[in-house]
Amino acid sequence: MEIAADSVVLIHYTLKDDSGAVLDSSAGGEPLAYIQGHGNLVPGLEKALEGKQDGNALSVTVAPSEGYGKHDAALVQRVPKRTLQGSGDIRKGMQFHGRTGDGMRVFTVTAVTGDMVSLDGNHPLADQTLHFDVEVISVRAATAEELEHGHVHGAGGHHH
Ligand code: ZN
Repeated sequence: MEIAADSVVLIHYTLKDDSGAVLDSSAGGEPLAYIQGHGNLVPGLEKALEGKQDGNALSVTVAPSEGYGKHDAALVQRVPKRTLQGSGDIRKGMQFHGRTGDGMRVFTVTAVTGDMVSLDGNHPLADQTLHFDVEVISVRAATAEELEHGHVHGAGGHHH
């Protein structure tokens, strides 16, 4: 079966950066399950998988604009500690959800200086060219319930 909108797809993948360092991989674990056409993957990878079938293996290079976006200086902010609610002891590496003009975003604490906290709302992989090696394990149609929930049920997906 070919991958098309609303297909439930299981893939094994390895993600590398420009230097060939492995950033993320499903190798040795469960394959990743996603629904095609629902923005579960970065746009460039989803596009490359369209029309592929189970058993296909492909290498995909994804530019930042089709990946995790370009670094946006406006998403780097310094705010007073007290504006971060219910956070107690704020440390580097902690993450907060914040509202921006584009909706909700995850901000990562990059530094704490006195009463001020530096936050970065860019994805850690912003500005990076992504190199994926992907193997398509299986393709099937999503159920009505899966489409309603926006995620995969059963193998590789949610159990509830
Ligand atoms: Zn569900």
